[in-house]
Amino acid sequence: MMTAAVEQGRFRCFACDRLIRRKVPLEADTRDGQIVFVGPECFRMIAANGEQGYRPPKGGPRLYPVAPQAVESRSSPSHGAPDEEHE
Ligand SMILES: [Zn+2]
Repeated sequence: MMTAAVEQGRFRCFACDRLIRRKVPLEADTRDGQIVFVGPECFRMIAANGEQGYRPPKGGPRLYPVAPQAVESRSSPSHGAPDEEHE
């Protein structure tokens, strides 16, 4: 049952359904007209899969990275994957 989809400042990861403990949740694109929120781990999987899309383990639509044009200020460190040098 879905009670409150969005509590105050809390979001659930679209891919794995875990609560996201972040002030600003990361976003993914379903390529279906929706932008959804994902946790950092799933975000990394999505980023790694790129144009192939990431299939969430629990099922559902594939997720793709959001186009970078959505970011307004490039200097903002809060919207990237800060540790992408780790493979
Ligand atoms: Zn997740």
